[in-house]
Amino acid sequence: MKRKPEPPPLGRAPVDISQWEPNSQGSVAASFTQEYVDEHYQCWHCKCNAIFTARDQKHTYEVRKANINQRRILCDSCWHESLNVVKKLETCAEVWGESKMTRRTDKAFLANWLHLLELQETYAPYRHDIARKNMLRKLLAIVD
Ligand SMILES: [Zn+2]
Repeated sequence: MKRKPEPPPLGRAPVDISQWEPNSQGSVAASFTQEYVDEHYQCWHCKCNAIFTARDQKHTYEVRKANINQRRILCDSCWHESLNVVKKLETCAEVWGESKMTRRTDKAFLANWLHLLELQETYAPYRHDIARKNMLRKLLAIVD
């Protein structure tokens, strides 16, 4: 009698390293990763308990081709919120690039941009744009 193939147990998912992006395939992780296992972690921003599920990991590394060393530090809702902030920051940079001369005395614009940069830091422990914050603080001091 033929046995039905059993679905993988919850919390685990099979690894297909051939689907990883090239750098990951050549990494140390490739030699010891045999399956994805649910990863429990604390959200860096809101401190809630979150899970990077095995299924999510498979999707992240094999479909989205993220580097295998990329880890999650934010829960889902904080992650989406942080993407929002990044988007708004990109808009600020665009507007700034297009109308620097008028924006450099636009207090509301400068203050909002600085606020967004500071907000971004609460979502990521890295990539702090110190130079830009200093520039905005200086401009704000002049406008005040
Ligand atoms: Zn969170």
